[in-house]
Amino acid sequence: MTEMIKEQKLRCPKCKGESIRLNGMILKNDGSRVQRYQCRDCGYSFTTEKKKIGVNRP
Ligand SMILES: [Zn+2]
Repeated sequence: MTEMIKEQKLRCPKCKGESIRLNGMILKNDGSRVQRYQCRDCGYSFTTEKKKIGVNRP
């Protein structure tokens, strides 16, 4: 089982590398979770938050 991202082309915001691996989840204050990634090339950790965060209010 590989940890490489297949669903979308993620790029490191720092070095623009495409060798990204999953690096756990971040639990935010509002209860939503954000996938965390780490660049294999430079080791930079980052998240890809969606623009709309948990907008489930009526
Ligand atoms: Zn990088």
